[in-house]
Amino acid sequence: MDSYSFIAPAKINLYLEIIGDAGGGYHELAMVFQTIELADRVDLRPSKQFEIRCSHPEVPQDKTNLAYRAGELMAQEFPQAFARHGGAEINIDKRIPVAAGLAGGSTDAGAVLVGLDLMWQLGLTQPELQKLAVRLGADIPFCLMGGTALGTGRGEDLEPLPDLENVYAILAKYRSLQVSTGWAYQTYRQQFGSTYVSGAEALEEQRQRFESGAMIGAIARQDSALIGKLLHNDLEKVVLPAYPQVAQLRQTLEEAGTLGAMMSGSGPTVFALVENQERGADAIERVKAIIDNPDLDLYLTKFAPRGIRVAN
Ligand code: ATP
Repeated sequence: MDSYSFIAPAKINLYLEIIGDAGGGYHELAMVFQTIELADRVDLRPSKQFEIRCSHPEVPQDKTNLAYRAGELMAQEFPQAFARHGGAEINIDKRIPVAAGLAGGSTDAGAVLVGLDLMWQLGLTQPELQKLAVRLGADIPFCLMGGTALGTGRGEDLEPLPDLENVYAILAKYRSLQVSTGWAYQTYRQQFGSTYVSGAEALEEQRQRFESGAMIGAIARQDSALIGKLLHNDLEKVVLPAYPQVAQLRQTLEEAGTLGAMMSGSGPTVFALVENQERGADAIERVKAIIDNPDLDLYLTKFAPRGIRVAN
């Protein structure tokens, strides 16, 4: 059985609106996902059982790792293939910041699903892989698809959008700061639950309003300046007041000659869009001049047109 290596890229959300209650503790969302070049490398080597290793001290190296759980799910769904081929030694070279709203764990898990499909020669279709993916996490179907996409439902009903070419993103994150996704959504529900739309018809109406809205139009026209102005994330309403450091970082990025800045997912990573590498490098220098903090990590990355892929 062959070994495989994958590039497993991170994502940012250009738009995240909480529309209402999806039942079962989940939210009905309207999102625009964007893959970026910043990526983990995930290697899979044939092994009797599943084993997991990761270079990052804060990532669990046991059954709770989402990538390990992806292996277990595949073994459970395809017991004959598992009995015949065995599991895999999964090695994660972690480059995506952890608990940062960048879907790091999700993309690793997606790479394991794709990897075992290849190793076990299952020949799964994209829709079949997507169905398995959503059982592990709402962001994983997008990690498999990649590029630019509209996500509704919990984020798993995906529609591809035109690729955004030549757009760069600065990512900024305080290394020691992590925000729990569960906390962010629960707090949002406590504060804004009374404004939620409910009922299938009303939810559909909201979805359609979003799909014909300004952000989707700006993406269709590849208008990065307008996209920068229309960035939106409802979770900022709860995360920014609780983490003033993140609010200050967002403002500093916005005022550093960028096209716009926003928190990604449940944070605490903040990103800003820029037209080219030079503008990006310049904005990073400006941010460093204002926030002189060794705990602050800054990355310059590019929008990427593809999700998880086999490494060359
Ligand atoms: P999302 O944007 O999908 O909400 P995130 O980027 O905010 O995810 P992750 O980096 O996936 O967050 O990490 C969330 C938590 O999951 C971490 O605190 C970590 O303990 C745990 N975890 C489990 N597996 C992984 C993995 N493969 N990589 C990173 N974290 C993992």
